[in-house]
Amino acid sequence: MGLVQICPFCGERDETRDHLFFACPYTYTLWLQVLGTLLRPPPSSDLGENVDRIAAISNDRLGSIVARLSFQVAIYYIWRERNERRHSQVARPVEQLVRIIDKTIMQRIMSTRYYGKQKLAGLLQL
Ligand SMILES: [Zn+2]
Repeated sequence: MGLVQICPFCGERDETRDHLFFACPYTYTLWLQVLGTLLRPPPSSDLGENVDRIAAISNDRLGSIVARLSFQVAIYYIWRERNERRHSQVARPVEQLVRIIDKTIMQRIMSTRYYGKQKLAGLLQL
């Protein structure tokens, strides 16, 4: 209660949800690389706004699937990285975390066999 949590990525004094997941330079760099061109304009620093924008992708079925999957995987790994830094002092550079997230997304797509269906043939490529 009343404790000030320092951001484990950049040292910002106030570790809020919005800062940790989007406004932090570390995680914002991660989002730009993970989401790539799926969100235009690029993600904002507001978590709720980004959730709304991803949920509203309706004219591009494959883009919607990849954006939602990317969002879920990235949130999981950001939280996991935050906890590892806080509890074990192990810090991965953003490029390494992006590679792990990318690999997890590709494994998830391949495990669902989406890529084998003609309608979703471009999913893995996207
Ligand atoms: Zn930060």
